[in-house]
Amino acid sequence: MKRSSARSEGLSWYAASASPAPLHPPLAGDHDTDVAILGAGYTGLGAALELAGRGYRVALVEGARVGDGASGRNGGQLITGFNPPFTSLAARHGVAEARALFELAEAGKKLLRERIARHAIACDLTWGFACAALKPRQLRELADEAALLQRFGYDALAPWSEAELRAVVRSERYIGAWYDAGSGHLNPLSYVRGLARAATAAGARLFERSPVVRLEAGKRPALVTADGRLTADFVLLCGNAYLIEGWPDLAPHLTRRIMPVASAMVATAPLGPAGLAPYLARDIAVADANHILDYFRGTPDGRLLFGGLARYSGRAPRDVAGALRPRLARVFPALAAVPIEHQWSGLVAITRDRLPYIGRLAPNILFALGYSGHGIILAGLAGALLAEAVSGTLERFDRLARLRHAPFPGGPFKTPILVAAMLYYRLRDML
Ligand SMILES: Cc1cc2nc3c(=O)[nH]c(=O)nc-3n(C[C@H](O)[C@H](O)[C@H](O)COP(=O)(O)OP(=O)(O)OC[C@H]3O[C@@H](n4cnc5c(N)ncnc54)[C@H](O)[C@@H]3O)c2cc1C
Repeated sequence: MKRSSARSEGLSWYAASASPAPLHPPLAGDHDTDVAILGAGYTGLGAALELAGRGYRVALVEGARVGDGASGRNGGQLITGFNPPFTSLAARHGVAEARALFELAEAGKKLLRERIARHAIACDLTWGFACAALKPRQLRELADEAALLQRFGYDALAPWSEAELRAVVRSERYIGAWYDAGSGHLNPLSYVRGLARAATAAGARLFERSPVVRLEAGKRPALVTADGRLTADFVLLCGNAYLIEGWPDLAPHLTRRIMPVASAMVATAPLGPAGLAPYLARDIAVADANHILDYFRGTPDGRLLFGGLARYSGRAPRDVAGALRPRLARVFPALAAVPIEHQWSGLVAITRDRLPYIGRLAPNILFALGYSGHGIILAGLAGALLAEAVSGTLERFDRLARLRHAPFPGGPFKTPILVAAMLYYRLRDML
C-alpha cells in the first residue's frame, strides 16, 4: 500500500532551465519482457542501457517522469569513493577489501566518463573538487584519507593551505582543504535524461507515470501497476528512497534497511556583473568535511547552487530557502540577502553503514539502492552490476552483495531514533 506521496518538492533549477523531455506512455495492459525494471534514475537506466545493448528485451516502469527522483535533483557532485572514508572502510573490512572497493568505485567513475562520451550526453561534466575543513581534526582526517588513497595509487589529490583555498573559495569559513582533480560536477538532470535517451536508442522501452503498486514473485516475476502488468524473467528494483518512502510494503526487507533522508538545495539569482568570481574563482565543486555538510558550485549562467540539510525525519523544511540561507550566509556573508530563485528538496537513501545495498530478494529479483549521498557515480555503476548479474557475470556484483547490511533499529518506529542520531552528528560536527 502506498504510504504517502514521495517527498520531492519544488522545481529544481535544473528542471526550470532544461528543454522539455520526451514523454513516454504509461503502462497499460499485459506486457512480457526479458528484464523488467522499476525506477528511471541512474540505477534503473544504467541497467536498462547495458542490458538493451546486450540484446535483452528491457522494459522500465517509472512512477513519475525520468529523473524525477534523486537523479534529476541532486547536488551534481561527483565524488571519489563511497560515503565512508576509505580509512574507516579499511578499519572495518581490512585494507585489501578497502582497496577492492576503491577500485570498484573508480571503475564507476570511468564508466560515467565513457557513457557521457559514447552517448554524447551534454551535461556540463567538469573536473575539480575541494573538500574543505572547518577544524584541525578534519584536516588530519583528510590527510590520513589522502595517504591511504595514495597507497592505492590514486594521484589526483593535493593539499591546499588556507591561503591556497581562499584564492579559489573566497570564504573565511575554512582552514584548508584537499583538492581532488578526479572528482567534479555535472548537471544531474541532463545526465539522467541522456541515459534515458541512450537506453531507448538501444531498444529499452520506457513507461512513465506508472507507479508500481505490487511486486509478484515466482518463476516469472511481475511488476503490477493500476492499469498494467509487466511479466519478465528478471525484475530489477531500482526505486531507491522513493520506493521505500512511497511503497514500504512492496519490499519490506529493503524498507527495514534503508532510511529516506530529506536533503535540499537552492539556486541564487545570477550573481551580477562580476559573476561567481568574488566567491568561487574556479569552476569546481566544494563540500565541507562535516557529517551534515554544506556543498556548493556555480552554474554556467553565474548562479550559486548551494545544498545541505539532512532531515532524518524524511521531511524537508517547508521553507527550504529560509533554512539554507543562514548556512549560505555563514560561508559567504556578502550573499546573506542574495535573491534565491529556485528551491527544492529530494530524498537520499542511506544504509546503516553508508555503503550501497545490492543483492537479491529471489534468484530472479535483484535490487540496488542506498548509495548514502554518493549515487551519481555509484548508482550508475550499480546499474551495470545488475546487468552483469542478469547475464551471469557475478564477480563485481557479489563484491557488493556480500556486504552485510543490518536493519535500522526501531522497526517501524525508526524515525525518532534517527532524529536522535542526527543530533549526535550535529554535536560531532561541533567538536
Ligand atoms: C538533494 C540531493 C542532493 C544529492 N547530492 C548528491 C551529490 O552531489 N552527489 C551524489 O553522488 N549523490 C547525490 N545525491 C544522491 C543521488 O542523487 C542518488 O544516490 C542517485 O540519484 C540514486 O539514483 P537511483 O536511480 O538509485 O534513484 P532515483 O534517482 O531516486 O530513482 C528512483 C526512481 O524510482 C521511481 N520509483 C520509486 N518507487 C516506484 C514505484 N513503486 N513505481 C514506479 N517507480 C518508482 C522514482 O519515481 C524515481 O524516479 C543527492 C540526492 C539528493 C536528494
